[in-house]
Amino acid sequence: MNFSRLDQIHSLEENNKFELLVIGGGVVGSAILELAASQGINSLLIEKNDFSSGASSRSTKLLHGGIRYLPQLQFGLVRESLKEQKILEQVLGKLYKPLKLLAPVFKDNGFSDLPRILQSNFIAPIAFKIGLTLYDFLGQRKKDQRHTLISKEDTFRLFPKLKKNKLTKSFIFQDAQTEDAKLVLTLLRNAVEINNATALNYVKITDIIRTGDMYKVSLIDDINKKKYTVESKKIIAATGVHNLPGMYESKSSKIKLSGGAHLILEGDPLGIGKNGVLLPQTEDNRVMFVLPWTGNTIVGTTDTEEFSGSLDRPYANSKDKDYLIRHIKKYFNIDEVKYISSWTGLRALIDSSGTNSKNISRGHFYKNIDENFIQISGGKLTGFRVIAKESLEQLFSQNFELNKQEFVDSILNLESQFNYKDLQLCLNHYCVVKPTDYLLRRTRISWFNQNGGKSFLDKVMVHFDSTLYLEQTIEELKDEGLL
Ligand SMILES: Cc1cc2nc3c(=O)[nH]c(=O)nc-3n(C[C@H](O)[C@H](O)[C@H](O)COP(=O)(O)OP(=O)(O)OC[C@H]3O[C@@H](n4cnc5c(N)ncnc54)[C@H](O)[C@@H]3O)c2cc1C
Repeated sequence: MNFSRLDQIHSLEENNKFELLVIGGGVVGSAILELAASQGINSLLIEKNDFSSGASSRSTKLLHGGIRYLPQLQFGLVRESLKEQKILEQVLGKLYKPLKLLAPVFKDNGFSDLPRILQSNFIAPIAFKIGLTLYDFLGQRKKDQRHTLISKEDTFRLFPKLKKNKLTKSFIFQDAQTEDAKLVLTLLRNAVEINNATALNYVKITDIIRTGDMYKVSLIDDINKKKYTVESKKIIAATGVHNLPGMYESKSSKIKLSGGAHLILEGDPLGIGKNGVLLPQTEDNRVMFVLPWTGNTIVGTTDTEEFSGSLDRPYANSKDKDYLIRHIKKYFNIDEVKYISSWTGLRALIDSSGTNSKNISRGHFYKNIDENFIQISGGKLTGFRVIAKESLEQLFSQNFELNKQEFVDSILNLESQFNYKDLQLCLNHYCVVKPTDYLLRRTRISWFNQNGGKSFLDKVMVHFDSTLYLEQTIEELKDEGLL
Protein backbone atom coordinates (compact mmCIF):
# COMPACT_ATOMS: atom_id res chain seq x y z
CA MET A 1 0.00 0.00 0.00
CA ASN A 2 1.07 3.59 -0.59
CA PHE A 3 1.67 5.91 2.31
CA SER A 4 -1.31 8.01 1.21
CA ARG A 5 -4.21 8.76 3.53
CA LEU A 6 -6.70 6.96 1.27
CA ASP A 7 -4.63 3.75 1.28
CA GLN A 8 -4.06 3.98 5.03
CA ILE A 9 -7.79 4.35 5.73
CA HIS A 10 -8.43 1.30 3.48
CA SER A 11 -5.80 -0.62 5.38
CA LEU A 12 -7.52 0.21 8.69
CA GLU A 13 -10.90 -0.81 7.29
CA GLU A 14 -9.51 -4.17 6.11
CA ASN A 15 -7.65 -5.05 9.29
CA ASN A 16 -8.72 -4.22 12.82
CA LYS A 17 -6.58 -6.62 14.89
CA PHE A 18 -2.97 -5.68 15.58
CA GLU A 19 -0.09 -7.03 17.62
CA LEU A 20 1.12 -3.52 18.39
CA LEU A 21 -0.52 -0.10 18.59
CA VAL A 22 1.86 2.86 18.66
CA ILE A 23 0.34 6.11 19.92
CA GLY A 24 2.10 9.24 18.63
CA GLY A 25 3.73 9.93 15.27
CA GLY A 26 6.87 11.81 16.35
CA VAL A 27 10.34 10.44 15.73
CA VAL A 28 10.10 7.91 18.58
CA GLY A 29 6.68 6.49 17.63
CA SER A 30 7.63 6.36 13.95
CA ALA A 31 10.89 4.53 14.68
CA ILE A 32 9.01 2.07 16.89
CA LEU A 33 6.59 1.40 14.02
CA GLU A 34 9.39 0.91 11.49
CA LEU A 35 11.42 -1.39 13.78
CA ALA A 36 8.38 -3.48 14.72
CA ALA A 37 7.01 -3.73 11.17
CA SER A 38 10.41 -4.68 9.76
CA GLN A 39 10.36 -7.68 12.13
CA GLY A 40 6.96 -8.75 10.78
CA ILE A 41 4.93 -7.45 13.73
CA ASN A 42 1.47 -6.34 12.54
CA SER A 43 1.51 -2.73 13.73
CA LEU A 44 -0.66 0.38 13.65
CA LEU A 45 0.40 3.96 14.47
CA ILE A 46 -2.16 6.60 15.39
CA GLU A 47 -1.29 10.32 15.41
CA LYS A 48 -3.87 12.85 16.56
CA ASN A 49 -2.45 15.77 14.53
CA ASP A 50 0.00 15.55 11.66
CA PHE A 51 3.04 13.26 11.83
CA SER A 52 6.05 15.05 13.35
CA SER A 53 3.97 18.09 14.30
CA GLY A 54 5.24 17.89 17.91
CA ALA A 55 8.85 18.30 19.08
CA SER A 56 10.02 16.20 16.13
CA SER A 57 9.69 19.05 13.63
CA ARG A 58 10.65 21.75 16.12
CA SER A 59 14.10 20.68 17.32
CA THR A 60 17.50 22.28 16.65
CA LYS A 61 18.06 19.36 14.22
CA LEU A 62 21.40 18.22 15.68
CA LEU A 63 22.41 14.58 15.96
CA HIS A 64 24.66 15.16 18.95
CA GLY A 65 27.79 13.16 19.58
CA GLY A 66 27.16 13.64 23.30
CA ILE A 67 29.78 16.31 23.97
CA ARG A 68 27.44 17.85 26.55
CA TYR A 69 27.68 14.69 28.68
CA LEU A 70 31.46 15.25 29.09
CA PRO A 71 31.23 17.99 31.73
CA GLN A 72 29.05 15.63 33.78
CA LEU A 73 31.84 13.01 33.44
CA GLN A 74 29.37 10.57 31.85
CA PHE A 75 31.97 8.97 29.59
CA GLY A 76 29.84 5.86 28.95
CA LEU A 77 27.09 8.04 27.51
CA VAL A 78 29.53 9.96 25.32
CA ARG A 79 30.89 6.69 23.92
CA GLU A 80 27.32 5.50 23.34
CA SER A 81 26.29 8.73 21.57
CA LEU A 82 29.35 8.65 19.32
CA LYS A 83 28.65 5.00 18.49
CA GLU A 84 25.05 5.98 17.76
CA GLN A 85 26.22 8.65 15.31
CA LYS A 86 28.12 5.97 13.37
CA ILE A 87 25.04 3.72 13.19
CA LEU A 88 22.81 6.62 12.12
CA GLU A 89 25.30 7.58 9.41
CA GLN A 90 24.93 4.05 7.99
CA VAL A 91 21.14 3.79 8.15
CA LEU A 92 20.04 7.36 7.39
CA GLY A 93 22.20 8.11 4.34
CA LYS A 94 21.93 11.81 3.46
CA LEU A 95 19.56 12.45 6.37
CA TYR A 96 22.76 12.25 8.44
CA LYS A 97 24.87 15.29 7.66
CA PRO A 98 28.30 15.69 9.29
CA LEU A 99 28.74 19.21 10.58
CA LYS A 100 31.79 21.01 11.90
CA LEU A 101 31.05 23.15 14.94
CA LEU A 102 33.18 26.09 16.02
CA ALA A 103 33.53 26.68 19.74
CA PRO A 104 35.10 30.14 20.08
CA VAL A 105 36.98 30.95 23.28
CA PHE A 106 36.55 34.47 24.64
CA LYS A 107 38.53 36.12 27.43
CA ASP A 108 35.44 36.94 29.42
CA ASN A 109 33.21 33.93 28.69
CA GLY A 110 33.76 30.40 29.88
CA PHE A 111 31.61 27.54 28.60
CA SER A 112 28.21 27.27 30.21
CA ASP A 113 28.15 23.50 29.81
CA LEU A 114 31.12 23.10 32.15
CA PRO A 115 30.58 22.71 35.90
CA ARG A 116 30.81 26.16 37.56
CA ILE A 117 34.15 25.31 39.14
CA LEU A 118 35.67 24.88 35.65
CA GLN A 119 34.03 27.94 34.13
CA SER A 120 36.76 30.46 34.81
CA ASN A 121 38.30 32.11 31.75
CA PHE A 122 41.61 30.40 32.39
CA ILE A 123 40.40 26.87 33.18
CA ALA A 124 37.49 26.61 30.71
CA PRO A 125 39.61 26.31 27.51
CA ILE A 126 41.89 23.72 29.15
CA ALA A 127 38.89 21.71 30.34
CA PHE A 128 37.31 21.98 26.89
CA LYS A 129 40.53 20.82 25.22
CA ILE A 130 40.76 17.77 27.51
CA GLY A 131 37.07 17.06 26.85
CA LEU A 132 37.48 17.21 23.07
CA THR A 133 40.54 14.96 23.16
CA LEU A 134 38.51 12.45 25.11
CA TYR A 135 35.60 12.91 22.70
CA ASP A 136 37.83 12.00 19.74
CA PHE A 137 39.34 9.08 21.66
CA LEU A 138 35.98 7.65 22.77
CA GLY A 139 34.62 8.03 19.22
CA GLN A 140 37.76 6.39 17.76
CA ARG A 141 37.82 9.28 15.34
CA LYS A 142 40.05 9.20 12.26
CA LYS A 143 42.65 11.97 11.99
CA ASP A 144 40.56 14.17 9.65
CA GLN A 145 37.57 13.98 12.02
CA ARG A 146 39.40 14.96 15.20
CA HIS A 147 39.05 18.37 16.79
CA THR A 148 41.46 21.16 15.92
CA LEU A 149 42.57 24.24 17.76
CA ILE A 150 42.76 27.32 15.56
CA SER A 151 44.21 30.76 16.20
CA LYS A 152 42.27 33.99 16.56
CA GLU A 153 43.36 35.02 13.03
CA ASP A 154 42.24 31.72 11.47
CA THR A 155 38.92 32.01 13.32
CA PHE A 156 38.26 35.38 11.66
CA ARG A 157 39.30 34.07 8.26
CA LEU A 158 36.69 31.29 8.59
CA PHE A 159 34.06 33.34 10.47
CA PRO A 160 34.61 36.96 9.40
CA LYS A 161 31.56 38.34 11.22
CA LEU A 162 32.40 37.04 14.72
CA LYS A 163 33.23 39.88 17.11
CA LYS A 164 36.97 40.34 17.37
CA ASN A 165 37.44 41.80 20.80
CA LYS A 166 38.23 39.31 23.55
CA LEU A 167 38.37 36.24 21.25
CA THR A 168 41.54 34.29 21.98
CA LYS A 169 41.30 31.10 19.90
CA SER A 170 38.73 28.50 18.84
CA PHE A 171 38.13 24.79 18.77
CA ILE A 172 36.51 23.06 15.81
CA PHE A 173 34.93 19.67 16.37
CA GLN A 174 32.78 17.26 14.38
CA ASP A 175 29.07 16.76 15.08
CA ALA A 176 26.05 16.06 12.83
CA GLN A 177 22.73 17.45 11.65
CA THR A 178 19.52 15.99 10.27
CA GLU A 179 16.12 17.19 9.04
CA ASP A 180 13.81 16.16 11.86
CA ALA A 181 10.41 16.19 10.09
CA LYS A 182 11.80 14.52 6.99
CA LEU A 183 13.40 11.84 9.15
CA VAL A 184 10.01 11.04 10.70
CA LEU A 185 8.26 10.89 7.32
CA THR A 186 11.03 8.65 5.95
CA LEU A 187 10.71 6.19 8.85
CA LEU A 188 6.95 6.08 8.30
CA ARG A 189 7.15 5.61 4.53
CA ASN A 190 9.59 2.72 5.07
CA ALA A 191 7.33 1.17 7.71
CA VAL A 192 4.24 1.44 5.50
CA GLU A 193 5.44 0.92 1.94
CA ILE A 194 8.19 -1.64 2.60
CA ASN A 195 7.10 -3.34 5.81
CA ASN A 196 3.27 -3.20 5.56
CA ALA A 197 2.52 -1.19 8.67
CA THR A 198 -0.48 1.13 8.90
CA ALA A 199 -0.05 4.76 9.97
CA LEU A 200 -2.77 7.38 10.25
CA ASN A 201 -2.63 11.08 11.04
CA TYR A 202 -5.57 13.17 12.27
CA VAL A 203 -7.16 10.26 14.12
CA LYS A 204 -8.11 10.63 17.78
CA ILE A 205 -8.22 7.84 20.34
CA THR A 206 -11.40 8.31 22.32
CA ASP A 207 -10.95 5.35 24.64
CA ILE A 208 -8.84 2.32 25.45
CA ILE A 209 -10.38 -0.58 27.35
CA ARG A 210 -8.57 -3.75 28.37
CA THR A 211 -10.57 -6.89 27.62
CA GLY A 212 -8.71 -10.09 28.55
CA ASP A 213 -5.33 -10.06 26.83
CA MET A 214 -6.35 -7.45 24.25
CA TYR A 215 -6.85 -3.69 24.30
CA LYS A 216 -9.99 -2.45 22.59
CA VAL A 217 -9.32 1.01 21.18
CA SER A 218 -11.97 3.45 19.95
CA LEU A 219 -10.90 5.88 17.23
CA ILE A 220 -12.43 8.80 15.43
CA ASP A 221 -11.14 10.15 12.15
CA ASP A 222 -10.92 13.92 12.60
CA ILE A 223 -11.30 14.51 8.86
CA ASN A 224 -14.38 12.45 7.91
CA LYS A 225 -15.65 11.97 11.51
CA LYS A 226 -15.95 8.20 10.95
CA LYS A 227 -15.57 5.97 14.02
CA TYR A 228 -13.49 2.80 14.17
CA THR A 229 -12.70 0.17 16.77
CA VAL A 230 -9.44 -1.76 16.67
CA GLU A 231 -7.87 -4.35 18.96
CA SER A 232 -4.23 -4.62 19.87
CA LYS A 233 -2.20 -7.01 22.06
CA LYS A 234 0.36 -4.41 23.10
CA ILE A 235 0.58 -0.64 23.22
CA ILE A 236 3.49 1.76 23.25
CA ALA A 237 2.64 5.42 23.77
CA ALA A 238 5.26 7.90 22.54
CA THR A 239 3.12 10.96 23.14
CA GLY A 240 5.79 13.60 23.82
CA VAL A 241 4.44 16.28 26.16
CA HIS A 242 0.89 14.91 26.05
CA ASN A 243 -1.02 12.76 28.50
CA LEU A 244 -2.40 9.35 27.59
CA PRO A 245 -5.88 9.26 26.09
CA GLY A 246 -9.13 7.93 27.53
CA MET A 247 -9.35 6.27 30.93
CA TYR A 248 -5.55 5.92 31.03
CA GLU A 249 -5.01 9.68 31.28
CA SER A 250 -4.48 9.63 35.05
CA LYS A 251 -1.75 6.98 34.67
CA SER A 252 0.36 9.22 32.37
CA SER A 253 4.05 9.83 33.18
CA LYS A 254 4.64 12.90 35.29
CA ILE A 255 6.56 15.37 33.18
CA LYS A 256 7.80 18.95 33.21
CA LEU A 257 7.83 21.05 30.06
CA SER A 258 10.80 22.81 28.59
CA GLY A 259 10.41 25.14 25.62
CA GLY A 260 12.97 26.28 23.07
CA ALA A 261 12.70 28.94 20.38
CA HIS A 262 14.55 29.34 17.08
CA LEU A 263 14.86 31.95 14.33
CA ILE A 264 15.59 31.41 10.65
CA LEU A 265 17.72 34.10 9.06
CA GLU A 266 17.71 34.37 5.28
CA GLY A 267 20.93 33.18 3.64
CA ASP A 268 24.13 33.47 5.62
CA PRO A 269 24.09 36.95 7.20
CA LEU A 270 26.42 35.79 10.02
CA GLY A 271 29.06 34.47 7.61
CA ILE A 272 29.24 30.94 9.02
CA GLY A 273 29.47 29.17 5.64
CA LYS A 274 28.86 25.43 5.94
CA ASN A 275 29.84 25.26 9.61
CA GLY A 276 27.94 25.75 12.85
CA VAL A 277 28.91 27.88 15.84
CA LEU A 278 28.41 27.01 19.48
CA LEU A 279 27.92 30.27 21.35
CA PRO A 280 29.58 29.44 24.65
CA GLN A 281 27.56 31.40 27.18
CA THR A 282 24.17 33.07 27.20
CA GLU A 283 23.09 35.57 29.84
CA ASP A 284 21.32 32.75 31.72
CA ASN A 285 24.32 30.43 31.54
CA ARG A 286 23.34 28.20 28.63
CA VAL A 287 24.86 27.55 25.22
CA MET A 288 23.25 28.51 21.92
CA PHE A 289 23.75 27.31 18.34
CA VAL A 290 24.03 29.11 15.01
CA LEU A 291 23.67 26.52 12.25
CA PRO A 292 23.49 26.37 8.47
CA TRP A 293 20.27 24.84 7.14
CA THR A 294 20.07 24.25 3.38
CA GLY A 295 21.01 27.77 2.39
CA ASN A 296 19.60 29.62 5.40
CA THR A 297 20.68 29.97 9.04
CA ILE A 298 19.06 28.61 12.22
CA VAL A 299 19.66 30.37 15.53
CA GLY A 300 18.49 28.64 18.70
CA THR A 301 17.58 27.57 21.19
CA THR A 302 16.33 29.22 24.33
CA ASP A 303 15.31 27.04 27.27
CA THR A 304 12.22 28.19 29.11
CA GLU A 305 9.59 26.78 31.40
CA GLU A 306 7.02 29.16 29.93
CA PHE A 307 5.76 29.07 26.36
CA SER A 308 3.20 30.82 24.17
CA GLY A 309 0.47 29.06 22.21
CA SER A 310 -0.79 25.55 22.87
CA LEU A 311 0.86 22.19 23.57
CA ASP A 312 0.03 21.22 19.98
CA ARG A 313 1.15 24.50 18.46
CA PRO A 314 3.58 26.53 20.58
CA TYR A 315 5.18 29.61 18.95
CA ALA A 316 8.14 31.88 19.58
CA ASN A 317 6.95 35.06 21.31
CA SER A 318 8.62 38.47 21.17
CA LYS A 319 10.54 37.80 24.41
CA ASP A 320 12.06 34.63 22.89
CA LYS A 321 12.94 36.43 19.67
CA ASP A 322 14.52 39.41 21.49
CA TYR A 323 16.62 37.01 23.55
CA LEU A 324 17.93 35.26 20.42
CA ILE A 325 18.60 38.56 18.62
CA ARG A 326 20.40 39.97 21.70
CA HIS A 327 22.77 37.00 21.70
CA ILE A 328 23.42 37.16 17.96
CA LYS A 329 24.42 40.80 18.43
CA LYS A 330 26.57 39.91 21.43
CA TYR A 331 28.73 37.54 19.36
CA PHE A 332 28.47 38.79 15.75
CA ASN A 333 29.04 42.15 14.05
CA ILE A 334 25.55 42.77 12.72
CA ASP A 335 23.47 45.93 13.14
CA GLU A 336 20.06 44.60 12.30
CA VAL A 337 18.96 40.98 12.58
CA LYS A 338 16.25 40.21 10.02
CA TYR A 339 14.56 36.83 10.26
CA ILE A 340 12.20 35.03 7.88
CA SER A 341 10.45 32.78 10.39
CA SER A 342 10.58 31.35 13.89
CA TRP A 343 9.41 28.31 15.81
CA THR A 344 9.24 26.88 19.29
CA GLY A 345 9.37 23.27 20.42
CA LEU A 346 8.35 21.67 23.70
CA ARG A 347 10.12 18.72 25.24
CA ALA A 348 9.19 16.48 28.15
CA LEU A 349 11.57 16.37 31.10
CA ILE A 350 11.04 13.96 33.96
CA ASP A 351 9.25 15.37 36.95
CA SER A 352 11.47 14.21 39.81
CA SER A 353 8.44 13.13 41.82
CA GLY A 354 7.75 10.47 39.12
CA THR A 355 8.20 6.83 40.02
CA ASN A 356 8.86 3.57 38.18
CA SER A 357 11.19 5.31 35.72
CA LYS A 358 14.59 4.49 34.32
CA ASN A 359 17.22 5.93 32.01
CA ILE A 360 16.70 9.38 33.44
CA SER A 361 20.34 10.28 32.83
CA ARG A 362 19.85 9.83 29.09
CA GLY A 363 16.80 12.00 29.30
CA HIS A 364 14.24 9.37 28.35
CA PHE A 365 12.13 7.31 30.69
CA TYR A 366 9.59 4.50 30.48
CA LYS A 367 6.52 3.98 32.55
CA ASN A 368 4.68 0.68 32.79
CA ILE A 369 1.09 1.77 32.38
CA ASP A 370 -0.46 -1.68 32.41
CA GLU A 371 0.50 -5.20 31.43
CA ASN A 372 1.73 -4.93 27.81
CA PHE A 373 1.30 -1.14 27.76
CA ILE A 374 4.20 1.27 28.25
CA GLN A 375 4.65 5.01 27.85
CA ILE A 376 7.94 6.48 26.76
CA SER A 377 8.74 10.15 27.35
CA GLY A 378 11.65 12.56 27.02
CA GLY A 379 14.93 11.81 25.29
CA LYS A 380 16.57 13.33 22.27
CA LEU A 381 16.17 13.17 18.53
CA THR A 382 19.68 11.68 18.47
CA GLY A 383 18.54 8.78 20.64
CA PHE A 384 15.42 7.88 18.64
CA ARG A 385 16.74 4.50 17.41
CA VAL A 386 17.93 3.38 20.83
CA ILE A 387 14.74 4.55 22.55
CA ALA A 388 12.56 2.74 20.00
CA LYS A 389 14.65 -0.44 20.22
CA GLU A 390 14.66 -0.46 24.03
CA SER A 391 10.93 0.10 24.31
CA LEU A 392 10.13 -2.73 21.90
CA GLU A 393 12.54 -5.05 23.68
CA GLN A 394 10.64 -4.41 26.92
CA LEU A 395 7.46 -5.80 25.38
CA PHE A 396 8.71 -8.40 22.88
CA SER A 397 11.33 -11.03 23.58
CA GLN A 398 13.40 -10.41 20.46
CA ASN A 399 16.03 -7.99 19.16
CA PHE A 400 15.21 -5.04 16.95
CA GLU A 401 17.63 -3.37 14.52
CA LEU A 402 16.93 -0.40 12.27
CA ASN A 403 17.48 -1.17 8.56
CA LYS A 404 19.00 1.21 6.07
CA GLN A 405 16.23 3.65 5.15
CA GLU A 406 14.94 3.94 1.58
CA PHE A 407 13.40 7.03 -0.08
CA VAL A 408 15.84 9.48 1.56
CA ASP A 409 16.66 11.38 -1.64
CA SER A 410 13.02 11.61 -2.57
CA ILE A 411 12.06 13.66 0.50
CA LEU A 412 15.29 15.67 0.59
CA ASN A 413 14.74 16.81 -3.00
CA LEU A 414 11.38 18.46 -2.27
CA GLU A 415 11.66 22.14 -3.08
CA SER A 416 11.05 25.18 -0.86
CA GLN A 417 8.78 26.77 -3.47
CA PHE A 418 5.41 25.42 -4.63
CA ASN A 419 5.86 22.65 -7.13
CA TYR A 420 2.97 20.52 -8.47
CA LYS A 421 5.13 17.38 -8.84
CA ASP A 422 6.31 17.64 -5.23
CA LEU A 423 2.78 18.11 -3.93
CA GLN A 424 1.57 15.02 -5.85
CA LEU A 425 4.43 12.99 -4.37
CA CYS A 426 3.55 14.24 -0.87
CA LEU A 427 -0.13 13.36 -1.31
CA ASN A 428 0.67 9.86 -2.61
CA HIS A 429 3.69 8.88 -0.51
CA TYR A 430 3.96 11.19 2.52
CA CYS A 431 0.34 11.16 3.69
CA VAL A 432 -0.41 14.87 3.28
CA VAL A 433 -3.97 15.65 4.39
CA LYS A 434 -3.97 19.41 4.93
CA PRO A 435 -2.13 22.19 3.08
CA THR A 436 -0.03 22.93 6.18
CA ASP A 437 1.27 19.32 6.23
CA TYR A 438 2.85 20.07 2.86
CA LEU A 439 3.94 23.63 3.73
CA LEU A 440 5.35 23.03 7.23
CA ARG A 441 6.51 19.41 7.48
CA ARG A 442 7.07 17.84 4.01
CA THR A 443 8.75 20.90 2.49
CA ARG A 444 10.33 23.98 4.08
CA ILE A 445 8.03 26.37 2.19
CA SER A 446 6.57 28.01 5.31
CA TRP A 447 9.97 28.34 6.99
CA PHE A 448 11.95 29.64 4.03
CA ASN A 449 9.45 32.20 2.69
CA GLN A 450 8.07 35.35 4.29
CA ASN A 451 4.62 35.10 5.96
CA GLY A 452 4.71 31.32 6.09
CA GLY A 453 4.72 31.04 2.30
CA LYS A 454 1.30 32.70 2.07
CA SER A 455 2.08 33.88 -1.46
CA PHE A 456 1.91 30.24 -2.63
CA LEU A 457 -1.50 29.58 -1.08
CA ASP A 458 -3.48 30.28 -4.29
CA LYS A 459 -1.54 27.59 -6.12
CA VAL A 460 -1.60 25.13 -3.20
CA MET A 461 -5.31 25.48 -2.41
CA VAL A 462 -6.33 24.43 -5.96
CA HIS A 463 -5.38 20.88 -4.94
CA PHE A 464 -7.34 20.84 -1.66
CA ASP A 465 -10.94 21.45 -0.74
CA SER A 466 -10.49 25.21 -0.31
CA THR A 467 -13.89 25.70 1.34
CA LEU A 468 -12.70 23.35 4.07
CA TYR A 469 -9.08 24.35 4.42
CA LEU A 470 -8.36 27.96 3.39
CA GLU A 471 -9.46 29.58 6.64
CA GLN A 472 -7.94 26.75 8.69
CA THR A 473 -4.59 27.09 6.89
CA ILE A 474 -4.42 30.84 7.58
CA GLU A 475 -5.35 30.23 11.24
CA GLU A 476 -2.70 27.54 11.59
CA LEU A 477 0.03 29.74 10.07
CA LYS A 478 -1.03 32.47 12.51
CA ASP A 479 -0.92 30.03 15.45
CA GLU A 480 2.62 29.06 14.43
CA GLY A 481 3.57 32.75 14.64
CA LEU A 482 4.30 32.82 10.89
CA LEU A 483 1.62 35.34 9.85
C1 LIG B 1 13.46 23.23 21.32
C2 LIG B 1 13.96 21.84 21.20
C3 LIG B 1 15.17 21.59 20.54
C4 LIG B 1 15.65 20.28 20.46
N1 LIG B 1 16.81 20.05 19.77
C5 LIG B 1 17.30 18.80 19.69
C6 LIG B 1 18.48 18.54 18.95
O1 LIG B 1 19.07 19.42 18.31
N2 LIG B 1 18.96 17.28 18.96
C7 LIG B 1 18.33 16.27 19.62
O2 LIG B 1 18.84 15.16 19.62
N3 LIG B 1 17.17 16.48 20.28
C8 LIG B 1 16.63 17.71 20.32
N4 LIG B 1 15.45 17.94 20.95
C9 LIG B 1 14.69 16.80 21.51
C10 LIG B 1 13.84 16.13 20.42
O3 LIG B 1 13.21 17.08 19.60
C11 LIG B 1 12.80 15.26 21.08
O4 LIG B 1 13.43 14.41 22.00
C12 LIG B 1 12.07 14.35 20.09
O5 LIG B 1 11.61 15.06 18.97
C13 LIG B 1 10.89 13.70 20.83
O6 LIG B 1 10.19 12.90 19.93
P1 LIG B 1 8.86 12.18 20.40
O7 LIG B 1 8.43 11.32 19.27
O8 LIG B 1 9.07 11.55 21.71
O9 LIG B 1 7.83 13.36 20.69
P2 LIG B 1 7.03 14.29 19.69
O10 LIG B 1 7.78 14.61 18.47
O11 LIG B 1 6.52 15.44 20.49
O12 LIG B 1 5.80 13.38 19.24
C14 LIG B 1 4.73 13.04 20.07
C15 LIG B 1 3.51 12.90 19.17
O13 LIG B 1 2.47 12.24 19.86
C16 LIG B 1 1.25 12.79 19.43
N5 LIG B 1 0.23 12.45 20.41
C17 LIG B 1 0.18 12.86 21.70
N6 LIG B 1 -0.91 12.34 22.31
C18 LIG B 1 -1.55 11.58 21.39
C19 LIG B 1 -2.74 10.81 21.41
N7 LIG B 1 -3.49 10.71 22.49
N8 LIG B 1 -3.12 10.17 20.28
C20 LIG B 1 -2.38 10.28 19.15
N9 LIG B 1 -1.24 11.01 19.07
C21 LIG B 1 -0.82 11.65 20.17
C22 LIG B 1 1.55 14.28 19.32
O14 LIG B 1 0.61 14.93 18.52
C23 LIG B 1 2.96 14.25 18.74
O15 LIG B 1 2.95 14.33 17.33
C24 LIG B 1 14.93 19.22 21.04
C25 LIG B 1 13.71 19.47 21.67
C26 LIG B 1 13.22 20.76 21.75
C27 LIG B 1 11.92 21.02 22.41
